[in-house]
Amino acid sequence: MAEGDFAFPARLGGGSVFRETEAHIGRLAEHLRQLDRQIADEGLSLRGILASMQEGILIVNREHRITLLNPAMECFFPSRRSPLGRSVLEFFQRHELEKAISLTLETGDSAHLELIFDAAGNGKTAPHRVFDIHVAPLAASGGGIPHAALLVFQDVTAIRALEATRREFVANVSHEFRTPLTIISGYVETLMDGCQEEPEMTERAVSAIHRNVQRLSLLLEDLLTISHLEGRSPMLDFQRVDLHDTLLRVLESLEPEIGNSGMRIEVDWREEARHAEVDARRIEQVYWNLVSNALKHAGGTGGVLRITGVLDGECAKVAFADNGPGIPLDDQAHIFERFYRVRKDRARDAGGTGLGLSIVKNILLAHGGSVSVESTPGSGAVFWMRVPVAQAQNAAQKE
Ligand code: ADP
Repeated sequence: MAEGDFAFPARLGGGSVFRETEAHIGRLAEHLRQLDRQIADEGLSLRGILASMQEGILIVNREHRITLLNPAMECFFPSRRSPLGRSVLEFFQRHELEKAISLTLETGDSAHLELIFDAAGNGKTAPHRVFDIHVAPLAASGGGIPHAALLVFQDVTAIRALEATRREFVANVSHEFRTPLTIISGYVETLMDGCQEEPEMTERAVSAIHRNVQRLSLLLEDLLTISHLEGRSPMLDFQRVDLHDTLLRVLESLEPEIGNSGMRIEVDWREEARHAEVDARRIEQVYWNLVSNALKHAGGTGGVLRITGVLDGECAKVAFADNGPGIPLDDQAHIFERFYRVRKDRARDAGGTGLGLSIVKNILLAHGGSVSVESTPGSGAVFWMRVPVAQAQNAAQKE
C-alpha cells in the first residue's frame, strides 16, 4: 500500500483475531484508492485548465526558478532549452520582473506590471509584444510566507495597438479640422474689423470662408463614410450594375474638373466585365475617388488616364493608369491608411482629405474585393480595383 498498490486486502488468515484488523485495512485501502483517483482527476483537470488557458501561467519558487509553465507561455516565449529549472532573470532578462517577484515572495502582496518584450529574436513578424503581468503569492492554506509566486501573462499587444490607433485618429481629425477653422476664424475677424468698405477684401474673405466650410463638410462626410464602412456589417445595396456605364456617369459629372486639369481620359472595357452585383452608389464613390486622385495628383497638360475593365476569374478588374509623378516606393504600402498623404501640404492644397483611398479600400473590402497600387516613381501609377461579379459566390467564400 505504501508503494501505491491498493489491490489490498489479501487475506491475512489466522482466524477471528485478524478479522477486525483485516476489515480496517480493507476500508483504509478503499479510502486511499478513492484519494488516489481524486488526486489523479484533479491533476488531470488542472493540466486541462492550464493547457486551455490563453493566458501564460508560470510558477516560480523562492529561489526564483521556474517550476511550472503552461503551453500558452511556451508559445509566447519559444525557447530551444526548456525553461524549467532556469532562473526568471536568465530566462526573461528583465530586472523589473525579478523585482516584482522578490517583493511578492517577501511581503505576500500581489504585484502588477506591464512589459514590452522584443519578439525579433524568435522569428515573429510582430516587432514586439506587450504583456500585462500579474504576480500573486502562493502560500499554504493557513497563510504564512509564500513558498512560490504565480505569474499570469496576458498578451495585450493588440489592445495597446488599437488604443494607439484611436489616439492617433483623434489627433489627426483634430488637426484636419483645426486648419480650416483657423482660416475661417481669421477671415471672420477681418470682416468684423470692418473690411466691408473694401469690396475686394470682403469678397476674398467670403470665398475663403466658403471654401473652408466646404472642406470641413467634405471631411465630415468622409469621416462618416469611413465609420459606416468600418462598422461590423456595412449595409450594402447589392444590385446587378453596369460597371462601364456607371464609370461614364461619374466621368460626366467630373467634366468640369477634367476640363480644368487638361487630362485626357481613355476608357477600354471588355464586354464580359461589364456587369457585377455591387452597391452602385458605393462603386460610384470608388470611381470618383480614383479618378479625382488622378486629376489632383497626375493632372496637367500631357496627362493621360487610361481606365480598363477586364474579367479576372470571378472578379471584374479595373485599372486606373496615369502618367503622373507616381508614388515613392516607401509610401506605397501606406497610401490606403486613413489621413496618409505623400506630400502633405501639396495634397491638402489640392483639396485632399487623405481619406479617399481608405474609403476606396473599405468599400471594396465590404464587397469582398480589393484594391492595390503599382507605381514606378516618375512614370505614373496604376490603381487596380477588383470586385466579385456575383455576391452569392462571395458569401459562399465567407462561410
Ligand atoms: P487625398 O485626399 O489626399 O487624395 P487619398 O487617400 O485619396 O488622399 O490619397 C492618399 C495619397 O496618395 C495622396 O495624398 C497622394 O499623395 C497619393 N496619391 C493618390 N493617388 C495618386 C496618383 N494617382 N498619383 C500620385 N499620387 C497619388
